[in-house]
Formats: sequence, C-alpha cells, structure tokens
Amino acid sequence: MVLRYDLHQDEIPKEWYNILPDLPEPLPPPLDETGKSFEVLKKVLPSEVLRLEFSNDRYVKVPEEVVERYLQVGRPTPLIRARRLEDKLGNRVRIFMKMESHTYTGSHKINSALAHVYYAKKDGVNFVTTETGAGQWGSSVSLASALFGLKAYVFMVRASYFAKPYRRYMMQMYGAEVHPSPSDLTEFGRKLLRENPQHSGSLGIAISEAVEYAAEKGGKYVVGSVVNSDIMFKTIAGLEAKKQMEMTGYDPDFVIGVVGGGSNFAALAYPFLGEELRKGERKRRYIAAGSSEVPKMTKGEYKYDYPDTAKILPKLKMYSIGSDFVPPPVYAGGLRYHGVAPTLSLLMSKGIVEARDYSQEESFRWAKMFSEIEGWIPAPETSHALPILKEIADEARQKNVTYTVLLSFSGHGLLDLANFADVLGFK
Ligand SMILES: *Cc1c(COP(=O)(O)O)cnc(C)c1O
Repeated sequence: MVLRYDLHQDEIPKEWYNILPDLPEPLPPPLDETGKSFEVLKKVLPSEVLRLEFSNDRYVKVPEEVVERYLQVGRPTPLIRARRLEDKLGNRVRIFMKMESHTYTGSHKINSALAHVYYAKKDGVNFVTTETGAGQWGSSVSLASALFGLKAYVFMVRASYFAKPYRRYMMQMYGAEVHPSPSDLTEFGRKLLRENPQHSGSLGIAISEAVEYAAEKGGKYVVGSVVNSDIMFKTIAGLEAKKQMEMTGYDPDFVIGVVGGGSNFAALAYPFLGEELRKGERKRRYIAAGSSEVPKMTKGEYKYDYPDTAKILPKLKMYSIGSDFVPPPVYAGGLRYHGVAPTLSLLMSKGIVEARDYSQEESFRWAKMFSEIEGWIPAPETSHALPILKEIADEARQKNVTYTVLLSFSGHGLLDLANFADVLGFK
C-alpha cells in the first residue's frame, strides 16, 4: 500500500494557472468609488503583480528565482493518503491530502509570498510591508523577504502581537521588523493611539498602516489572499496535486479545503476545475469550508464591498458579511476575514462551488481525533475542512459507492497548541 506520493524536484510546475479566461462569465471588475483607490494601488503594489491581476493569460511562467526558492522552502510538498482515517470513516472514502503543512513556514502562504516579494524586488525597492493577524502570512512574507534580501515591515494586530508571540518570534528570526498595530510608524496609527493608547487593533487597521507606510517611505505592499494574482501564485500547490493524483490512479470526486480569503481552497481546486470549465463537463464536486463564527459563505451576501475596514482599497464583488463585521475572537485567525475572493464568489454564485461552515468546537474535536489517528496536528484553520469528510462518507454509504477526496491540508498546528488546549480543556 502506497501512502505517500512525491514529485521529484525537476517535476515542480514551471507555470502558474490563471482561471480568469476559463470562468463561465467575465469577473465583475473592482470599483473605485473614492476615485483614489486605484492610484494608491498603482503606487504600492509591485507593477508586475498589478499587471497579472488583470491578465487573461491562462498560464504564466514562474520566474527561475522563484522556482529556486520554492525548492528551498520544501516544495514540491507530498500528497499523503490518510489510510487510518479512511478506516475510521468505514472505508467509503479514499482521502488524499495535499500537505502544505510541510513547507518551512508551515502553511500554503509562502507559495505566493515568494512571488510578491520577488516582483517587489524587481521594482527596485528595498523593503516591503504587510499586515498579519495570527502571524501565518507575516511569517511567510518575512521568510520570502529574507530569501530575496529585502527588509520586511509587518504590522501585526496589537491583540495578537501580545497574545500570540510565537509567530512574531518566527518573523524576528527571519529578520523582519514587527510592529503592533496601531503603531506609531504611521499617521493613521498615531491618530488611533492618541484616541486610545490600549487600542487592540484589527486586520483592517493593519492593512491601512501597511499601505500608508509603503506609500510614504517608498516600499511595496504585499497582499495575502483574495485577489486574482495571489491565487494564481498559489496554484503551484494545485498543479503539483494534479500530477500527484495521476500517480495515485484515482481522480478526485471531491476537492475540499478551507476558506479565509479563499486562496488556499482556490489554489488547490482551480487547476482541476479549470479543466472541467474548458471542456464544458462537470464531474467533480468542490466544497469549501469556513467558520460558522464568521459565516460569510453561508450567510453572506454576494455584493460589492470593501476588502479592508478602512475603505481605502477598491470595492470587490464578493460574498461578504460586511467590511464592518467584527469577528469573534476564534482561534482560526486565517478564517476571520469578512469576504471571499471574487473568482471563488462568482463560482459559488453559480452553484459550481458549494460551501459549508463549521464551529470552532466541532472542528477542534475533529482535529484531536485526526491527530490521534493520523499523527500530524492540523492548523486550527485546516481543522474546519475535516467535518466535510463525514458528510461525504455518509453519502457514499447511502449510495453504496466509494468516493475519492482531495483535501488541502493547508497548515500544521504546532504553533497553535495553546488554542487547542484552551478549547479542548486540557489541564
Ligand atoms: C491563512 C490560512 C488559511 C486561509 O487561507 P486563505 O488563503 O486566506 O483562504 C487556511 N489555513 C491556514 C493554515 C492558514 O494559515
């Protein structure tokens, strides 16, 4: 019995996949209601990232320098069969997991961070800025910056800066400057701190600070999910998985994963889905899972909304529970975002991608069961995809079939153990 499917380093995909030309209808464009937001983007985004955002090229060459760093940080990642979990679910599903937890930073986020930082460097700047909540994105940008010799300024939501120090230490190990946001580095941050020196911050505020700092001091801002270019860069994982599924001899009936802003799920699903959209045949099912504490997919509305709380970026047409929505402090920091990537939202509105939301409590119980029988501790975010497996197994049993499932194992939870301990009540 083969449990693990590895690609040789030479087999790493050399092109990213862009779903824009294969969408069933054109993507509703971003809206610049203030008349200023496009100008801001032109100034702070790496020029090639901005160009790729609207590109209709189906495939885009991965620059040599980025391929080399992909190899350095642990790509290609393995595809692993969860044989004992299959047993547990009555052998009605074959479960293949794409292990993005096996990169150096422990999640899929390094896949695009390397590309954004590379293009920033090509524009001749010497630093990048970004925001981070729990620190997954910040640590990926920090490593990417270190590997390309740029400085990274990370604006970390003040509450997380103090409550979740381990990913901050990781960023500092990589040489990044990490500031609690609101910070005294920006006009906006100073204003908020004057009003309330104990301000706990938010992702929206951190985005505003990162954009302001880059614009003022001549750096580039790197954006971590939601947008087309970011998803395209991350398809490296889905393209690898496509080759690996061919090695298994099975084609997935289901492709599943969790959605924060949407790039994790989309990056795995799009290379499979794009092929079906081109051929005009639909044979697989695509299910995205989120947090029922932040139910943008199951309770949100498909409408134009701001991607950031400060409303400085152009509005996007997406499923959203409102840019003013204040998420409860659930531990799956990566799932707390209020909106869903526009491409994924379009596909959801057409019924091509299905959505589920699960509570933290239920997801963490699955994480514990999974850890006991498969041995690899999932990230709090990743845990939210696990309950879908039961639904699929139940359906297979009813229909008396065996399904093949491809799951995005988006990250490991080894830096999140305190979160599990709290919710699961460890003494
Ligand atoms: C950030 C994160 C997610 C959510 O990613 P999106 O690309 O924003 O949907 C999922 N899993 C892990 C482990 C993450 O760090």
